Amino acid sequence: MQIATAAAPPFMKNGYLVACEETRDAVLIDPGDEVTELLDAARAHALQVRHILLTHAHFDHLTGVARAKAALSAPIWLHRDDLFLYEGAAEQGALFGLSVQAPPPVDRFYRIPDSIPFGRYIVDVRHTPGHCPGGVCLAIGRADRTARELFVGDTLFAGSIGRTDLPGGDLGTLLASIQTVLFSYPDDTPVYSGHGPATTIGAERRTNPFLRP
Ligand SMILES: [Zn+2]
Ligand SMILES: [Zn+2]
Repeated sequence: MQIATAAAPPFMKNGYLVACEETRDAVLIDPGDEVTELLDAARAHALQVRHILLTHAHFDHLTGVARAKAALSAPIWLHRDDLFLYEGAAEQGALFGLSVQAPPPVDRFYRIPDSIPFGRYIVDVRHTPGHCPGGVCLAIGRADRTARELFVGDTLFAGSIGRTDLPGGDLGTLLASIQTVLFSYPDDTPVYSGHGPATTIGAERRTNPFLRP
């Protein structure tokens, strides 16, 4: 599995390009203001981006969706419970004083649990509400193996957790998603968050101050 990451100001939201090293099929996760860099990387490595996968529909995770959709013939995926946020992307941006274009329509809604293959890999889609109602964890690994790497959106960060004061957020729901879904993975499982550095399930289980038993 090959992973490219980029982030751009003002939100420094991480976008990810994840590729199968054998077939060069790939998925693009949460394209935002850094999307041009990720599309350039896809071209440079001759990747076939099969899916545009959204962890949730806060607008900083959507600002590159229109450019990604125009450049790639790939479907846009979202959890249905975040459709109200997706359709309100322009209003979300306005709250931060930013003009955000409405993204193109969602092509497919995740069925939970869902499994989306690309190349020799598979994306297991797990519902992790709490930061927002339709948040998901994208657990990616070889289809013929059980090990996974987690793309968790804004549910869990290195040393922190997602905010729950935005529309549809709920702290108890968020903590339950982390404990029951994310912490069901082994300690050596890599975690890639929507903002900030990567971490592991074990490091967060041991040291995250919001998740101490
Ligand atoms: Zn968010
Ligand atoms: Zn975010």
